[in-house]
Amino acid sequence: MTHSYNYCPHCASPLRLLTQVEDGGPKQRLRCAACGWTHWNNPTPVLAAIIEMTDRDGQVLLARNAAWQGRMFALITGFMEAGESAEEGIVREVFEETGLRTDAPKLVGVYDFQRMNQLIVAYHLQAQGEIVLSPELAEYKLFRPEGIRCWRAGTGYALADWLSTKGITPMWMDPA
Ligand SMILES: [Zn+2]
Repeated sequence: MTHSYNYCPHCASPLRLLTQVEDGGPKQRLRCAACGWTHWNNPTPVLAAIIEMTDRDGQVLLARNAAWQGRMFALITGFMEAGESAEEGIVREVFEETGLRTDAPKLVGVYDFQRMNQLIVAYHLQAQGEIVLSPELAEYKLFRPEGIRCWRAGTGYALADWLSTKGITPMWMDPA
């Protein structure tokens, strides 16, 4: 995440980089000297959806985020809410962002996205019907699976793995 902590969220004392011995040995982290609170900075799980439109010849829905520069289309993603399973979360996110009702999400895999301190949990879902984008998304495009070019980052690897399970050799946007 891009935000860093300056004060302890528990007791409001200033946080400092302090070294303590943990299970893995001495480790420097942002800690509170007053109450012992530690900013662990664990990766955040992010859910991602490969949406296969079974009423459009199995084309895959990719969308462009309104906040992004350029013409990059990507998977539907979102954060989990407290009190829901990952499967419930991805079904909810797909509905909120595209208006599509889906069920039976199938796990594609779990992928590193260390640049954003995230862990991508990618699902494949089948959907039909009208697509109504949330304001967060500027536009969508439907791609034939054979025509998709994968990007070399978390969700792009998920897409490549899913294409491989369909017997399609993934094409990449840029050489390795
Ligand atoms: Zn504190």
